[in-house]
Amino acid sequence: MRPVSAPWLAAVAAIFSRDVADTAQLDPVDMFGLPSRDVIINEMPLVDTLGRPLRNLRLSVTDRCNLRCQYCMPEMEYAWLPRTDVLRLEEINRLVGIFIEAGVDKVRLTGGEPLLRRDVPALVRMLSATGRLQDIALTTNGILLSQFARPLREAGLHRVTVSLDTLRPDRFLALSRVDSHAAVLEGIRSAREVFGHIKLDAVVLRGTNDDEIVPLMEYAKANDAEIRFIEYMDVGGATGWSFEQVVGRQEILEVLARAYGTIEDVHEDSSAPAQRFRLPDGTVFGIVASTTTPFCRTCDRSRLTADGLWYRCLYATGGLDLRGPLRAGHSDAHIRSLIDEAWRARDDRGAERRLEERDRSTFIPRDALRTDPHLEMHTRGG
Ligand code: SAM
Ligand code: SF4
Ligand code: SF4
Repeated sequence: MRPVSAPWLAAVAAIFSRDVADTAQLDPVDMFGLPSRDVIINEMPLVDTLGRPLRNLRLSVTDRCNLRCQYCMPEMEYAWLPRTDVLRLEEINRLVGIFIEAGVDKVRLTGGEPLLRRDVPALVRMLSATGRLQDIALTTNGILLSQFARPLREAGLHRVTVSLDTLRPDRFLALSRVDSHAAVLEGIRSAREVFGHIKLDAVVLRGTNDDEIVPLMEYAKANDAEIRFIEYMDVGGATGWSFEQVVGRQEILEVLARAYGTIEDVHEDSSAPAQRFRLPDGTVFGIVASTTTPFCRTCDRSRLTADGLWYRCLYATGGLDLRGPLRAGHSDAHIRSLIDEAWRARDDRGAERRLEERDRSTFIPRDALRTDPHLEMHTRGG
């Protein structure tokens, strides 16, 4: 690349080429009143190699859980994150502030079970106080929700999603190994009272709860909730996964069409994981078809684990350590530069790549999960 002499030309060329920018010595504002390379790069929207912005951040506030769902935590023993590594609320809030500068405007608190961390309302209050998040949401299994719904609302939480895979207590016990179905329903009742409208997430597994698609839809309608049916994914932790157990989007739609009639697509220009549909009576529901119809091309989501590792894809096998620089006393600007650099290099499309694989068995073997808990879905946050 030829050296560029005119400063304004270098400033413009810098948008397209770091080589050029590195050879140009520019002042913050040049003689023509144009901003310098640094200013331009900082103000350029942060996008990855596929042009995807960084907007959604999922915060896994704890890797612990009070259930053992068969599609997420089917094992008897787990390796947990050392407690001293788990970020304090102030540390999480500081990192979120840096992510906001990088473009994040939506945060979802998740886990593990986020409500096992009793200080979650205080975290919501801190996040809400930034005044810069368009959306602060939480995904929970609902067991502790009846005691947390009001404090969360008062702290500034915008939305709640509760996971509900079955309406049958015996099945709940078999699916999650804990007899807490009544507590979940009570949690949903409280959340409705406090938040009005809520969302429900149901993972559909063949031979386990695939006969409850219509009953779950009826429950959602009766409770003014928008339900999302989720395809069983072969993420880390799903050690019992097989393609035979996946009930795909098409099949879910067929079951619902037989029960309710013609289903319409709700046309939306959105990066949300759920594709939304409408029943003839106007009820809107979603399907998260990550397994049969991945949506990586528009994915603006990333995940921060409770101990401060940042994953740019649910299927990524490596994450960027942000706890290290944070605790070593590095500045926000330095941490921001690490985030920017990593996001600009992002080429992940994990679910699409999995779909391209011919022999599809469990994604991460048990032994690897035992050695590195970060590979688990419950650690990086669903
Ligand atoms: N414990 C909370 C809960 O269950 O709602 C939040 C964390 S959980 C990991 C978040 C979501 O991930 C839940 O809705 C759960 O159903 C979903 N999930 C976990 N493992 C999954 C899998 N193998 N396939 C599809 N969804 C899964
Ligand atoms: Fe179930 Fe959520 Fe716990 Fe996973 S993290 S075992 S999905 S309750
Ligand atoms: Fe995004 Fe990765 Fe999920 Fe694809 S697999 S939608 S890139 S998180």
